[in-house]
Amino acid sequence: VLKSRVPNVDVPLQDLPTFYFSRMRQTTGPSGPDGSPPRPLLVDSDTPSLSLTLDEFETLSIQLASGLYHAVGVRQGDMVAIVLPNTVYYLAVTMAVLMLGASCTLANPAYTASELSHQISDSNARFVITTRASVPVIANAITLLAKLAPRGLDQTLRNVLCIDRPADSPMLGASDKSLVRSIFEVKSPKPFPRVFLKDIDRLRTTPAFVCYSSGTTGLPKGVILSHYNIVANIMQIGYAIRPMTSSKQLTRTTLVVLPIFHSFGLILTYSLPIEGSRLIIMRAFDLVRFFELVEKHRVTDTMLVPPILNAMVKLSETAAHHDLSSLQWIISGAAPLGPNTARSLEQAYSGVRIMQGYGLTESSPGLSLSMPKASRAGSSGQLLPNIQAKVIDDNGQALGEGKVGELCFRGPNIMLEYLNNKEATKAAIDADGFLHTGDIGFVDSRRFVFVTDRKKELIKFNGFQVAPAELESILLQHPLVRDCAVTGVFDPLRQTEVPRAYLVLSDGASNADEAAKTIVGWMNGQVAYYKQLRGGYVLVSAIPKSASGKILRRALCSSPTVY
Ligand code: AMP
Repeated sequence: VLKSRVPNVDVPLQDLPTFYFSRMRQTTGPSGPDGSPPRPLLVDSDTPSLSLTLDEFETLSIQLASGLYHAVGVRQGDMVAIVLPNTVYYLAVTMAVLMLGASCTLANPAYTASELSHQISDSNARFVITTRASVPVIANAITLLAKLAPRGLDQTLRNVLCIDRPADSPMLGASDKSLVRSIFEVKSPKPFPRVFLKDIDRLRTTPAFVCYSSGTTGLPKGVILSHYNIVANIMQIGYAIRPMTSSKQLTRTTLVVLPIFHSFGLILTYSLPIEGSRLIIMRAFDLVRFFELVEKHRVTDTMLVPPILNAMVKLSETAAHHDLSSLQWIISGAAPLGPNTARSLEQAYSGVRIMQGYGLTESSPGLSLSMPKASRAGSSGQLLPNIQAKVIDDNGQALGEGKVGELCFRGPNIMLEYLNNKEATKAAIDADGFLHTGDIGFVDSRRFVFVTDRKKELIKFNGFQVAPAELESILLQHPLVRDCAVTGVFDPLRQTEVPRAYLVLSDGASNADEAAKTIVGWMNGQVAYYKQLRGGYVLVSAIPKSASGKILRRALCSSPTVY
């Protein structure tokens, strides 16, 4: 077992909202620096007047919790689906749900109706909090759910809430009102029974967030991240980033670019204000807009994924038209970052340091982060406090430091379990409590982690998970597909992996290429944009499989012609 070289941190025995707001009070105090009026903590990038101070954020969380309790009927133990793009209200909405002892399942608003219906039914969510723009797709998801469970329809429909204010929501007209309400209509100052978690067992077992991940194999599964997991990871990440932040109240400015619904964006959005950052929340990413915002808000730090860093290198001439001198560091994570990219970027943007982080949804997600004065080229950072690593060979035997094998980790941030899936949990977390990541790499003597390869099926498009098994199960529904397999290939232009399909056509297909194009076009309509078959297709006569029927994905990649 390779233990972190940095001192352990204590994990406070508090639920996330209690921990968060008490820590924030210590960081920012009740007002701004020197008694000046409080500065906004959360600011919308496009509409700076849309902002919340810490007090406003906490009051809104409490009033939303009250509204969800009295007007909507959310109770302890309930699951609420959060289908939101980045917004200044994201954290308040999740805090409100957690204050009631209920849990949030976080979904990508780019999901299609069938993807959403899967997550809603799998997590047993009975409430949806979303935006007006997503109401049509949610209505379609609910129609699909109704086919599965006829009684679900009426119940869920009455429980769709939008974060749009009633005044800016013409769609929430009289006739729709019974179906969709604004959270601003339901929020209330009335007292409500707030749930405080204090003992370790309840903190460890009460889900705060249920995020979806396919893990090392199969379909996306609900990853239960408990209050304890999230509080622990905020403390662990705080330890690593603290030396770069100043103790001054909200003097740093972080641009939140990554989606908050993904664990990487979620944990940093929660962690950075505790270390003194105010957050500028960007709704949708655009690189030129990113440069404008860094200049306008004097942004000091941000977190990005490798394909965006590559785009920044390519667009450094455009960047030169902007004053980016405030930008000091960028955390890169969610996918491998080439050492050349980090170097080129630091050269093209003087004064900017790249820190790499590594983790998985299943570990809340932070496992390692490069820390100031502690970084090594090509490494994904140093083990965070309280983390132990084990690197194993194909037979499960532990290897020593510096040896390449499957990376396994243990610590307070490792998920409780996969929701309703004991078998998958048992396959992921061994008897000693180590999470098997499906990533290949090594850990050196100073506990720097190097991720060199991935043995699991997962494909990562711009940091988003694409599960081959999910795309295969959809492809197999098409009458022209007899068999298929999906793998990831690296697209040098986009600087990311993209999914590619290997297709065995059914006998009914007369013109093979036309059939394949029809299949791919149909497939791309079934899934969110990032799961589309951007890697094209290959026609094969058979899918190579092991004796037990498992697809031999590596054998596929040697197939010749790609369309
Ligand atoms: P997710 O659960 O979506 O966060 O995906 C986790 C997976 O992303 C990991 O198991 C890795 O395969 C990959 N990943 C995340 N961060 C890194 C990194 N810094 N370097 C290489 N791969 C990474």
